[in-house]
Amino acid sequence: MLLDPAHGGADTGAMLDPATPEKTYTLALANQLRAALGSRGIRSIFTRDSDVALDSTARATIANRSHASACIVLHATSTGNGMHLFTSSLPAVKEADPRRAFLPWQTAQASYETSSLRLESDVDAALTQQHIPALVARTSLMPLDSMACPAVAIEVAPLDANTPLSNPGYQQKIVDALDAALTAWRSDWRQQP
Ligand SMILES: [Zn+2]
Repeated sequence: MLLDPAHGGADTGAMLDPATPEKTYTLALANQLRAALGSRGIRSIFTRDSDVALDSTARATIANRSHASACIVLHATSTGNGMHLFTSSLPAVKEADPRRAFLPWQTAQASYETSSLRLESDVDAALTQQHIPALVARTSLMPLDSMACPAVAIEVAPLDANTPLSNPGYQQKIVDALDAALTAWRSDWRQQP
């Protein structure tokens, strides 16, 4: 798995509460997810594993060198409810011809959209099982558009008015849902020719 905790360094992202910048939350969530996947023997590669600034090109470069079965971009927000799932809004093109080694960088994701939408629907189903509402949308977002892998951007919002992002039980449900979806995804992926 490729996990991309959004923001970092001087780019703090949103303030989720007075003490928690988004950059800290996304890295903590990625660490929890890495631990869960690791307990199943699934390795995660991070675009950043410390509080450093990283531009979209650097993130996409790490993602595209990882040859990961899935790339997950993690954001968080204090507005809205549940999880917001985004796939790239680039117009889909046919799967890349393997003889063409170089994909156009800015739009590399266009060749992966069918699998990205499948990945998104697997994540959506796992969230439903955990009773976490999810909104599904398409957007043009870096580094998502440049990722050459099945890729979904996930923005975590509070579950409801009484359950903020910092709620440990909610965090655990999020991790359990993503862990379940990504574990199933990876075993499907390996069975493909
Ligand atoms: Zn963000």
